[in-house]
Amino acid sequence: MVLQIDQFMCREDNFGVLIHDPKSGETALIDAPEERPILAAIERTGWKPTMILTTHHHQDHVEANLALKERFGLKIFGPKDSKIPGIDVELSEGSKFEFAGQPAEIIETPGHTADHICYYLPKSHVAFVADTLFAMGCGRLLEKPASVMFQSLKKLVALPAATTLYCGHEYTLANARFALTIDPTNSALKERAAKVEKLRADGKPTLPTTLAEELATNPFIRWHDPAIRKNLGMENATDAEVFAEIRKRKDNF
Ligand code: ZN
Ligand code: FE
Repeated sequence: MVLQIDQFMCREDNFGVLIHDPKSGETALIDAPEERPILAAIERTGWKPTMILTTHHHQDHVEANLALKERFGLKIFGPKDSKIPGIDVELSEGSKFEFAGQPAEIIETPGHTADHICYYLPKSHVAFVADTLFAMGCGRLLEKPASVMFQSLKKLVALPAATTLYCGHEYTLANARFALTIDPTNSALKERAAKVEKLRADGKPTLPTTLAEELATNPFIRWHDPAIRKNLGMENATDAEVFAEIRKRKDNF
């Protein structure tokens, strides 16, 4: 089955994403940041949502849950033991879950929040990683320490490199500028940063990305890289320590 995907902006810098199976008509909204642009996307695509797949409890990811549930009678899926408005089905790692007959894996990625989950559709080579991993960045550590986020990111980097990643925010330009301070000699990063400057100047989105592109340019998952370690003076540190240091520097950037 060929999955159709539509990404659009919500709020200041949030992404809304609709995924659609043309055969069954089944449509899922990945998070519900804001009602108006979501309704516009539904109108434009003609895809009537049957479910919301929630990644975490933050307001900018669940704000439209109840309004959309009321309007479309859709089902809301999300992380267990959380406070997702209108939730019908609680998911956790290993939950049996399908979208339009296609297996969808739930990956628990605590760090940004304790409840954060990602949705991976292996047959479509796509993962929805929301506020865990961004283009050249990663989510801020609001509810769990760096050591926990490090383990979460390790799960994502273990996915096939060709996986397309949809993220929760358009933070790419700021992330690129920071990444260059950590990994200034990385030519793939320099090239990408220049591309991103141009895209943003033209008002275009920089996402989705791919895991391969992140592995080449995202300092938050390049903890093993000798040049980064040298630059940080952390040649003999553990991967988790390198990650924690990069996260700390970004907080103060
Ligand atoms: Zn968030
Ligand atoms: Fe967010």
